[in-house]
Amino acid sequence: MLISFLIMLPFVALAGFLLGGLVELAALRLPSSEPFLAPPSCPRCGSLRSRWSWLLPRPCPTCGSIPRSQLTLQLLTALTLVLVWLRFFTEPLAVLRVSLFALLLLLIARIDWAHHLIYLVTIVPALVLTLLLALVASLRIFLLAVTGMVGAAALFAVFYWLGWLLYRRAALGSGDILLAALIGAMMGVLRVLPTLLLGMVFAALAAISLLVLRRAGRMTYLPYGSFLAAGTVVGLLLWGPA
Ligand SMILES: [Zn+2]
Repeated sequence: MLISFLIMLPFVALAGFLLGGLVELAALRLPSSEPFLAPPSCPRCGSLRSRWSWLLPRPCPTCGSIPRSQLTLQLLTALTLVLVWLRFFTEPLAVLRVSLFALLLLLIARIDWAHHLIYLVTIVPALVLTLLLALVASLRIFLLAVTGMVGAAALFAVFYWLGWLLYRRAALGSGDILLAALIGAMMGVLRVLPTLLLGMVFAALAAISLLVLRRAGRMTYLPYGSFLAAGTVVGLLLWGPA
């Protein structure tokens, strides 16, 4: 058991690194009008790089700069999948579910980070997939997922409404309600509250450190969805899915 566990570890890390490149590709291309599989362009000088550099980033042949955000995301994805493997390797279905959930959350977080938007085209298929996987696991898990989804969406709808009352503008995006629904479906009704709380604490810490560093005013936009998604990845590792 231990031997096969250790042998798999570098393959999991490599798979995570390559999948991280695909997450970056999807995050850059879903919101843009460029063809999905066109070769990437250098973030600094704009010259085209090879198609394969989505998977293995290399210094730009023209200006020599390294695509830093892509490399960061790839290393983060590799680390996440290794942690998922360490935590759940005795339960194959849990490895599959949590790895897929983490990849979807990284994609949503990456898009929200860059564009301050949560897209239906990512949330709706993710929600369907999450509920299908819950159904594969068991009827009990499916019911936990559905009640978690409805409960979290209702809670965030109340927050959204309170935001309107207090500030006369949307303090939360309506996309955050959909993201809360997805998090509820992934975590189930029993674990969704501490998970959402974790994301809110991450966002609050980021906001406080921005204010202390005087990088932001009171109304500066924070990519709230990214922090909720990050909290959910941590919640999945701590408590497991629904
Ligand atoms: Zn370049």
